[in-house]
Amino acid sequence: MTDMNDSSIGTHLSFEFFPPNTPEGVAKLRQSRKVLSELQPEFFSVTYGAGGSTQEKTVGIIGEIAEEGLQVAPHLSCIGATRTSIAELLDHYREKGVRRLVALRGDLPSGMVDRGEFRYASDLVAFIRKHSGDWFKIEVAAYPEMHPQATSPGQDLDNFIRKVDAGADSAITQYFYNASAYFDFVERARARNVTIPIVPGIMPITNFTQLARFSDNCGAEIPRWIRLRLAAFHDDVDSLRAFGHEVVTALCQTLVDKQVPGIHFYTLNQAGPSAAIWKALRR
Ligand code: FAD
Repeated sequence: MTDMNDSSIGTHLSFEFFPPNTPEGVAKLRQSRKVLSELQPEFFSVTYGAGGSTQEKTVGIIGEIAEEGLQVAPHLSCIGATRTSIAELLDHYREKGVRRLVALRGDLPSGMVDRGEFRYASDLVAFIRKHSGDWFKIEVAAYPEMHPQATSPGQDLDNFIRKVDAGADSAITQYFYNASAYFDFVERARARNVTIPIVPGIMPITNFTQLARFSDNCGAEIPRWIRLRLAAFHDDVDSLRAFGHEVVTALCQTLVDKQVPGIHFYTLNQAGPSAAIWKALRR
């Protein structure tokens, strides 16, 4: 098995948020950030609705986090966007002192037909490099269990490599619960001379219905035994969360033991579950 630590400098930690819709959500996110910043993450990232649906909210939260002096990485999805709109956002983030972006294609919201001027995330990465040079560190998405629209794992890997060749510095994976899928993906990428860090994306388990819905959409498999155990908890939220913590901590321990370059938590704006997993790990 290839050394997962090829281009890493220890296990970095990062946390992903989404831009809240309500003032209560904004206040809750501030509190989550306070708790999580004590764990000294490398950065916080904030998602961005494809088609620009939450654009202003993302920009607002990014500004707030940057002003707190924390490292922040806006997600930037290009579907439905124009070169001009992306260039304006890049200039705005540069002015705010942002040095890192998560560059994505995104998915066209239902009912929206204008695909915009970019076809794939690799086009966006190339555009960022052309427009902003090396100002931004660029993260891209990777799919250990294959992106749902890809026609084969091989084709999906080719397309991942296009993003690396276009100038990506690092990758964050879609979440997964099968550690072997991650290790297999990294090994296949290393065999193709990809040297950038490929950081596992980790989704804590706190709500089965929500997780099942996300997983159906994004193609991340919930292994049968985990699905069955989660379903059997019914309304016993405490037991479900305790089991979720155990399963995801064991997954992260396997990853950390193999010296993955970092762990990126999909927090869903909650500090508790991610912080508890991180604190439980032997590093
Ligand atoms: P791409 O890399 O462009 O790939 C999309 C599909 O096209 C894949 O099937 C790929 O194999 C194929 N493909 C790529 N290039 C080519 C080519 N040249 N020829 C033929 N096929 C090609 N979504 C959001 O809307 N907002 C977010 O903030 C957000 N954050 C995310 C963060 C992470 C870490 C991850 C893993 C996903 C995130 N997503 C987000 C979801 C993401 O936008 C979707 O998964 C989307 O469907 C694909 O985006 P991508 O950047 O991976 O696209």
